[in-house]
Amino acid sequence: MNTPFENAMSQLDRAAGSMQLDAQLHARLRKPEKLHIVSLPVLMDDGSEKIFVGYRSQFNSILGLYKGGIRFADSVNADEVKALSFWMAIKTAAVGLPLGGGKGGVCVDPRSLSSAELERVSRAWVRALYDVIGPEKDVPAPDVATNPRVMGWMVDEYNQIAGVQTPAAFTGKDVSDGGVVARATSTSRGGFYLLEKIRQMHGKKPADMRVAIQGFGNAGMHMAQLVYDAGYTVVGVSDSRSSLISDGDCGIDPYKAQEVKKVHGSFAESPFENLCKERVRIGNSSDVITMDCDVLIPAAVENQITVHNAMEIQASLIIELANGPTTPEADRILEKRGVQVIPDVLANAGGVIVSYYEWYQNMHDEQWSEDETNEKLRVQISDAYMAISALCEEYKVSFRDGAFIHALLRMQKSLAASR
Ligand code: NAD
Repeated sequence: MNTPFENAMSQLDRAAGSMQLDAQLHARLRKPEKLHIVSLPVLMDDGSEKIFVGYRSQFNSILGLYKGGIRFADSVNADEVKALSFWMAIKTAAVGLPLGGGKGGVCVDPRSLSSAELERVSRAWVRALYDVIGPEKDVPAPDVATNPRVMGWMVDEYNQIAGVQTPAAFTGKDVSDGGVVARATSTSRGGFYLLEKIRQMHGKKPADMRVAIQGFGNAGMHMAQLVYDAGYTVVGVSDSRSSLISDGDCGIDPYKAQEVKKVHGSFAESPFENLCKERVRIGNSSDVITMDCDVLIPAAVENQITVHNAMEIQASLIIELANGPTTPEADRILEKRGVQVIPDVLANAGGVIVSYYEWYQNMHDEQWSEDETNEKLRVQISDAYMAISALCEEYKVSFRDGAFIHALLRMQKSLAASR
């Protein structure tokens, strides 16, 4: 299987070929502007010192400062952060933000660390990269296994070094640290607004749409709750170890699923059947991908929809909340089969849109209400959807290619203006 960065470059080349992309811009987009790899010496609870590897890829700043999350996982490597930072650059451009793309992480299994060790890893990442990040250079945010608590440690470390309160240095913070209430659910909410738009265009009722979601973290769990609250039927959810599958159309209550996860840590071996409606069974974590449903929402990690399962997918609509869940080869299969794919660079852009709103409010000392923030998000992501749809018509391309073309045209215009 290709690496995430190889997949990203293959997506770029395909879109570039459909629109006669400026050759200089095409060449620029094949490499990050800067890739920082740092050693993080961290004191462990037993008194020993462990060296972790930290990353920050600053892919592209054509449209503005670098923006993108920080991921803690033992799979983090240079290739992955390069790919994720490239997708961030495309995403911010595709939804009309004045931002470039970045991404970072630490190669660590966060479950193997105590809370104190996790805090020391977070602070070490900031100390090592302090010189290259900041509110007017590069503004990180949460991603897989990082959250407002981690952002709180990071912004506190940044403030200590800077000697001044700088809330705009990080987004996705707790409200008490200068964050915005709407950020926690914004990634899912953006995807949900798109799902609602598509449902209305097809003249369907929420109850007629059966939704399966892979991943039950920040993105997946909030999405499950949003669609459930709106009257859709959640027929499957999964985490990295197992899945809950509703065999009939009775559906799963994601709030109860959340309770179970809180108590048992995973769906596996949990007494879920006793807590929820009947006819729910526990399956493998990948079972949700190919289960009988109308809408599939990958919200876990990369490369989950591949040549090995693309033919078996039963959903007619895929909303990619995860980054890079579909390989380019699987994309071709889905396209041929007429499965509509709303690509990651649009589907999960709600997170970076509201992150931008948080940064903007911190920079301008403003505070918007949650409703105001959500409404701005709804308008911004819906406008991007319409603009991309028009390009898909014009260039006769898939939605992914249309989103890339939209982003690349914005970058091309900005470069032309600066020459
Ligand atoms: P998270 O750590 O909160 O949750 C990840 C979930 O995926 C967990 O439930 C985990 O058990 C599950 N998982 C991990 N590996 C899996 C596997 N192989 N099979 C099935 N499930 C697996 O992370 P998150 O913030 O929800 O991010 C999920 C995806 O969404 C990532 O691709 C991330 O880049 C993307 N994303 C998140 C945000 C955000 O604001 N959180 C924004 C944009 C994109």
